[in-house]
Amino acid sequence: MLLCLLEVIFMEKEKLVFPGTHIGPGEMYQEDETKVAEEDEIYSAVVGNLTEKEGKIKPFKERKLLDIGDIVYGIVKIVFESFAVITIYPENKSILSPTDGVIKVMSAKKGGVYLKSMKDAVRVGDIVKAKVSDYRDEPVLSFHGDDLGVVKAFCSVCRLPLVKKGEKLFCEECKKPEMRSVSNNYGNVGLVDL
Ligand SMILES: [Zn+2]
Repeated sequence: MLLCLLEVIFMEKEKLVFPGTHIGPGEMYQEDETKVAEEDEIYSAVVGNLTEKEGKIKPFKERKLLDIGDIVYGIVKIVFESFAVITIYPENKSILSPTDGVIKVMSAKKGGVYLKSMKDAVRVGDIVKAKVSDYRDEPVLSFHGDDLGVVKAFCSVCRLPLVKKGEKLFCEECKKPEMRSVSNNYGNVGLVDL
């Protein structure tokens, strides 16, 4: 019993890492086939689980990392004037993805609509479908594509789901329209298991 307790106490925590994830200073960790050194700092070179105490990375070989062109679903987390942060769920669940991506106003535009602010495209809590258009420090998303954009949105006043009427979204409770960058597939998210 005592042994079990000790095992629990000393059980090592594992953390998901991606290429470029900072592991720690060069004096604590060493470069190997899963880690690279840059200016005395050690970074992961692979996708895998890091055992934080030992600094060992067990790489995943069978799973692909999210890449440019992949389609993702997301929940809007924060909206600023010029960009929004989106919690990402890859459409293909076997793809490994960091949690958050960003979308900028230019990439959130649908058709010829002029967007004054990111708040005209998405609001916190909306469910979106997007494409990974670039990948630098984090995935950069885009709504450029007919079925991309907001697929489910909620009234900013009463939080009821908005209904699509023509090209616009409308709250039947508050009797008012709301602006979003709407997907052609708006409302068809019943089968999405986020
Ligand atoms: Zn409402």
